[in-house]
Amino acid sequence: MHACTESAELGLYTRPVYNLSREDSAHPLILVCEHASRYIPDALANLGLDDAAAREHIAWDIGALELAEQLSATLGATLLSANYSRLLIDLNRPRHAPDSIPAQSEIYQVPGNRDLDEATREYRRQVLFKPFHTRLQQLIDQRLAQGRPVRVVGIHSFTPVFYGQPRELEVGVLFGQARDFARRLLDGLEQHPLKVAGNQPYRIDPLGDMTVPVHGDARGLESVLIEVRNDLLRTPEAVSRWAGFLAPLL
Ligand SMILES: [Zn+2]
Repeated sequence: MHACTESAELGLYTRPVYNLSREDSAHPLILVCEHASRYIPDALANLGLDDAAAREHIAWDIGALELAEQLSATLGATLLSANYSRLLIDLNRPRHAPDSIPAQSEIYQVPGNRDLDEATREYRRQVLFKPFHTRLQQLIDQRLAQGRPVRVVGIHSFTPVFYGQPRELEVGVLFGQARDFARRLLDGLEQHPLKVAGNQPYRIDPLGDMTVPVHGDARGLESVLIEVRNDLLRTPEAVSRWAGFLAPLL
């Protein structure tokens, strides 16, 4: 019997792990939204966070799913999005990264992740992490086998205030190897009155990131992560505005 069958969380994750829209799209773009959901099963009592913190940016990327869905609809592109909170296991971190299952996120303690036994860590990897990345890999494999071009773009949002410091940046394009693709996106965004930067507010770290280095760079594909400040994604009109900036560039 596998060790993870001893996890106290056995059978708790009854929702599908991901949503896949427009799977058969002919568009080269595969949109990925790893931090789309703040859903944590009721039995885990928000991992000990109070309700306000569990609704905050540490649990998910506010507005990112709406933006990704709008881009997917506008372009007719495939979208793979997560259905569980990043606090259970972060789908954009390698599975053995120290903050894969964070006991602390920014200024918030996550009591339910403290002192987790290895069986439960492994259970979350098997049940939440692995199916998501296996599906993404299959989507890419399938298209490459058909000789089709593939681009992999993660859609994220970031908090306007981080460790008490306000952030001026409005949109960041994070990249590793895909410099030309990132340059095209940055040049396009700079045509608008936006505060734009490359590799801000974060940098792609091959040891700390998953989607861009593993599914993109390691396979020689055009791949970036787009970060939009989440206070700019709070209404359908605001989301449409950002989709309007980004869609023609993707
Ligand atoms: Zn994110």
